[in-house]
Amino acid sequence: MTLAERYKRVRETIDAAARRSGRDGRAVRIVAVTKTVGLDRVREAAALGLTEFGENRVREAAPKVLATPDLDWHFIGHLQSNKAGEVVSHYRLIHSLDRVSLARALQRCAEKENCLVSCLVQVNVAGEESKFGLLPSGLVTFLGEITSFDRLVIRGLMTMAPLVKDPEEARPVFRELRRLRDEAARPGRELPELSMGMTNDYPAAVEEGATIVRIGSALFG
Ligand SMILES: *Cc1c(COP(=O)(O)O)cnc(C)c1O
Repeated sequence: MTLAERYKRVRETIDAAARRSGRDGRAVRIVAVTKTVGLDRVREAAALGLTEFGENRVREAAPKVLATPDLDWHFIGHLQSNKAGEVVSHYRLIHSLDRVSLARALQRCAEKENCLVSCLVQVNVAGEESKFGLLPSGLVTFLGEITSFDRLVIRGLMTMAPLVKDPEEARPVFRELRRLRDEAARPGRELPELSMGMTNDYPAAVEEGATIVRIGSALFG
Protein backbone atom coordinates (compact mmCIF):
# COMPACT_ATOMS: atom_id res chain seq x y z
CA MET A 1 0.00 0.00 0.00
CA THR A 2 1.18 3.53 -0.68
CA LEU A 3 1.27 6.28 1.91
CA ALA A 4 -1.67 7.92 0.14
CA GLU A 5 -3.73 4.71 0.47
CA ARG A 6 -2.77 4.27 4.11
CA TYR A 7 -3.64 7.87 4.91
CA LYS A 8 -7.03 7.48 3.23
CA ARG A 9 -7.71 4.31 5.21
CA VAL A 10 -6.75 5.95 8.53
CA ARG A 11 -8.93 8.99 7.77
CA GLU A 12 -11.90 6.78 6.88
CA THR A 13 -11.44 4.68 10.00
CA ILE A 14 -11.42 7.83 12.14
CA ASP A 15 -14.51 9.22 10.42
CA ALA A 16 -16.38 5.94 10.89
CA ALA A 17 -15.42 5.71 14.58
CA ALA A 18 -16.47 9.32 15.12
CA ARG A 19 -19.84 8.66 13.47
CA ARG A 20 -20.43 5.59 15.66
CA SER A 21 -20.17 7.81 18.71
CA GLY A 22 -22.19 10.67 17.26
CA ARG A 23 -19.20 12.90 16.60
CA ASP A 24 -17.89 14.70 13.56
CA GLY A 25 -14.67 13.15 12.22
CA ARG A 26 -13.36 16.63 11.47
CA ALA A 27 -13.04 17.15 15.22
CA VAL A 28 -10.26 14.53 15.26
CA ARG A 29 -6.80 15.55 14.06
CA ILE A 30 -4.08 13.17 12.95
CA VAL A 31 -0.58 13.73 14.24
CA ALA A 32 1.63 11.74 11.86
CA VAL A 33 4.40 10.23 13.99
CA THR A 34 7.59 10.33 11.95
CA LYS A 35 10.13 9.06 14.50
CA THR A 36 11.00 6.07 12.30
CA VAL A 37 11.15 7.88 8.95
CA GLY A 38 13.22 10.56 7.26
CA LEU A 39 12.59 13.98 5.87
CA ASP A 40 11.61 12.65 2.43
CA ARG A 41 8.68 10.76 3.96
CA VAL A 42 7.68 13.82 5.98
CA ARG A 43 7.52 15.84 2.80
CA GLU A 44 5.60 13.08 1.03
CA ALA A 45 3.02 13.09 3.84
CA ALA A 46 2.81 16.88 3.80
CA ALA A 47 2.16 16.80 0.05
CA LEU A 48 -0.86 14.56 0.76
CA GLY A 49 -2.32 17.19 3.06
CA LEU A 50 -1.07 16.09 6.47
CA THR A 51 -0.03 19.18 8.42
CA GLU A 52 0.68 17.94 11.94
CA PHE A 53 3.67 15.77 12.74
CA GLY A 54 4.96 14.16 15.92
CA GLU A 55 8.42 13.28 17.19
CA ASN A 56 9.55 11.82 20.50
CA ARG A 57 13.27 12.65 20.59
CA VAL A 58 14.63 16.19 20.37
CA ARG A 59 17.96 15.33 18.71
CA GLU A 60 16.67 12.91 16.09
CA ALA A 61 13.81 15.22 15.21
CA ALA A 62 15.83 18.41 14.84
CA PRO A 63 16.88 18.03 11.17
CA LYS A 64 13.28 17.30 10.15
CA VAL A 65 11.75 20.04 12.28
CA LEU A 66 14.24 22.70 11.24
CA ALA A 67 13.82 21.84 7.55
CA THR A 68 10.03 22.24 7.66
CA PRO A 69 9.09 25.42 9.56
CA ASP A 70 5.80 25.45 7.64
CA LEU A 71 4.60 22.25 9.36
CA ASP A 72 3.09 21.95 12.82
CA TRP A 73 5.32 19.79 15.00
CA HIS A 74 4.18 18.05 18.18
CA PHE A 75 6.58 16.81 20.84
CA ILE A 76 5.15 13.50 22.07
CA GLY A 77 8.02 11.85 23.98
CA HIS A 78 9.51 12.15 27.42
CA LEU A 79 11.11 15.58 27.71
CA GLN A 80 14.18 16.29 29.83
CA SER A 81 14.11 19.71 31.45
CA ASN A 82 17.50 20.62 29.96
CA LYS A 83 16.01 20.21 26.48
CA ALA A 84 13.08 22.56 27.15
CA GLY A 85 14.84 25.38 25.31
CA GLU A 86 15.06 23.30 22.16
CA VAL A 87 11.32 22.67 21.99
CA VAL A 88 9.58 25.88 23.04
CA SER A 89 10.02 27.75 19.79
CA HIS A 90 9.83 24.85 17.31
CA TYR A 91 6.87 22.81 18.51
CA ARG A 92 3.23 23.72 18.37
CA LEU A 93 2.20 21.41 21.22
CA ILE A 94 4.06 19.45 23.88
CA HIS A 95 2.13 16.32 24.82
CA SER A 96 4.30 15.18 27.71
CA LEU A 97 4.17 17.71 30.53
CA ASP A 98 4.28 15.51 33.62
CA ARG A 99 6.12 17.27 36.43
CA VAL A 100 6.52 20.68 38.04
CA SER A 101 10.26 20.85 37.32
CA LEU A 102 9.57 20.54 33.59
CA ALA A 103 6.80 23.14 33.78
CA ARG A 104 9.27 25.51 35.47
CA ALA A 105 11.92 24.88 32.78
CA LEU A 106 9.39 25.49 29.99
CA GLN A 107 8.19 28.67 31.70
CA ARG A 108 11.76 30.02 31.91
CA CYS A 109 12.51 29.25 28.27
CA ALA A 110 9.25 30.78 27.12
CA GLU A 111 10.03 33.95 29.08
CA LYS A 112 13.43 34.10 27.39
CA GLU A 113 11.91 33.59 23.94
CA ASN A 114 8.96 35.81 24.80
CA CYS A 115 6.46 33.18 23.64
CA LEU A 116 3.73 30.95 25.00
CA VAL A 117 4.04 27.15 25.19
CA SER A 118 1.01 24.99 24.57
CA CYS A 119 1.08 21.75 26.53
CA LEU A 120 -0.93 18.65 27.31
CA VAL A 121 -0.55 16.97 30.68
CA GLN A 122 0.47 13.35 30.25
CA VAL A 123 -1.45 10.99 32.54
CA ASN A 124 -0.37 7.43 33.27
CA VAL A 125 -3.96 6.24 33.54
CA ALA A 126 -3.14 2.55 33.92
CA GLY A 127 -0.38 3.27 36.46
CA GLU A 128 2.21 1.31 34.47
CA GLU A 129 5.72 1.30 35.97
CA SER A 130 7.27 1.57 32.51
CA LYS A 131 5.41 4.70 31.50
CA PHE A 132 5.86 8.38 32.21
CA GLY A 133 2.99 10.60 33.22
CA LEU A 134 1.20 11.73 36.34
CA LEU A 135 -0.92 9.29 38.24
CA PRO A 136 -4.60 10.20 37.92
CA SER A 137 -4.86 10.96 41.64
CA GLY A 138 -2.27 13.72 41.26
CA LEU A 139 -3.79 15.52 38.29
CA VAL A 140 -5.87 18.23 39.96
CA THR A 141 -3.12 19.06 42.45
CA PHE A 142 -0.60 19.30 39.61
CA LEU A 143 -2.82 21.64 37.60
CA GLY A 144 -3.10 23.84 40.68
CA GLU A 145 0.68 23.84 41.20
CA ILE A 146 1.40 25.08 37.67
CA THR A 147 -1.21 27.85 37.45
CA SER A 148 1.43 30.45 38.32
CA PHE A 149 3.40 29.56 35.18
CA ASP A 150 1.72 32.12 32.97
CA ARG A 151 3.62 31.18 29.80
CA LEU A 152 2.12 27.69 29.74
CA VAL A 153 -1.21 27.15 28.01
CA ILE A 154 -2.63 23.84 29.18
CA ARG A 155 -4.75 22.58 26.30
CA GLY A 156 -5.77 19.17 27.61
CA LEU A 157 -4.57 15.68 28.48
CA MET A 158 -2.56 12.93 26.81
CA THR A 159 -2.21 9.25 27.57
CA MET A 160 -0.63 6.11 26.19
CA ALA A 161 -2.71 2.99 26.73
CA PRO A 162 -1.01 -0.27 27.68
CA LEU A 163 0.05 -2.36 24.71
CA VAL A 164 -2.65 -5.03 24.49
CA LYS A 165 -3.69 -7.51 21.81
CA ASP A 166 -7.34 -6.54 21.82
CA PRO A 167 -7.85 -2.77 21.52
CA GLU A 168 -11.06 -3.16 23.50
CA GLU A 169 -8.84 -3.66 26.55
CA ALA A 170 -7.51 -0.13 26.03
CA ARG A 171 -10.96 1.42 25.93
CA PRO A 172 -11.36 1.88 29.73
CA VAL A 173 -8.09 3.84 29.74
CA PHE A 174 -9.42 6.26 27.12
CA ARG A 175 -12.75 6.56 28.89
CA GLU A 176 -10.96 7.31 32.15
CA LEU A 177 -8.80 10.04 30.57
CA ARG A 178 -11.93 11.74 29.33
CA ARG A 179 -13.56 11.43 32.75
CA LEU A 180 -10.45 12.90 34.39
CA ARG A 181 -10.60 15.79 31.94
CA ASP A 182 -14.27 16.43 32.69
CA GLU A 183 -13.49 16.36 36.39
CA ALA A 184 -10.47 18.72 36.15
CA ALA A 185 -11.95 21.21 33.67
CA ARG A 186 -13.39 24.47 34.91
CA PRO A 187 -14.04 27.94 33.48
CA GLY A 188 -10.73 29.33 32.30
CA ARG A 189 -9.26 25.81 32.19
CA GLU A 190 -11.37 23.99 29.62
CA LEU A 191 -8.85 21.31 28.60
CA PRO A 192 -10.47 20.74 25.19
CA GLU A 193 -7.83 18.40 23.76
CA LEU A 194 -7.57 14.67 24.41
CA SER A 195 -4.49 13.15 22.74
CA MET A 196 -5.10 9.42 22.82
CA GLY A 197 -4.96 6.52 20.38
CA MET A 198 -2.13 5.09 18.30
CA THR A 199 -2.04 2.61 15.42
CA ASN A 200 -3.24 -0.32 17.54
CA ASP A 201 -6.10 1.34 19.33
CA TYR A 202 -7.15 4.62 17.69
CA PRO A 203 -10.70 3.62 16.66
CA ALA A 204 -11.59 2.96 20.31
CA ALA A 205 -9.89 6.19 21.34
CA VAL A 206 -11.92 8.19 18.82
CA GLU A 207 -15.13 6.56 20.03
CA GLU A 208 -14.18 7.64 23.56
CA GLY A 209 -13.55 11.26 22.62
CA ALA A 210 -10.02 11.66 21.25
CA THR A 211 -9.42 15.00 19.52
CA ILE A 212 -5.86 14.07 18.49
CA VAL A 213 -4.65 10.62 17.48
CA ARG A 214 -0.91 9.93 17.15
CA ILE A 215 -0.37 7.57 14.25
CA GLY A 216 2.96 6.14 13.10
CA SER A 217 2.97 2.66 11.63
CA ALA A 218 -0.54 2.75 10.16
CA LEU A 219 0.77 5.56 7.93
CA PHE A 220 4.41 4.78 7.36
CA GLY A 221 4.40 0.98 7.67
C1 LIG B 1 5.60 6.06 18.45
C2 LIG B 1 4.53 6.75 19.17
C3 LIG B 1 3.23 6.81 18.64
C4 LIG B 1 2.82 6.14 17.34
O1 LIG B 1 2.87 4.74 17.45
P1 LIG B 1 2.26 3.80 16.33
O2 LIG B 1 1.91 2.57 17.07
O3 LIG B 1 3.38 3.58 15.34
O4 LIG B 1 1.09 4.46 15.72
C5 LIG B 1 2.26 7.51 19.34
N1 LIG B 1 2.53 8.13 20.52
C6 LIG B 1 3.78 8.09 21.06
C7 LIG B 1 4.01 8.79 22.36
C8 LIG B 1 4.81 7.41 20.41
O5 LIG B 1 6.02 7.38 20.97
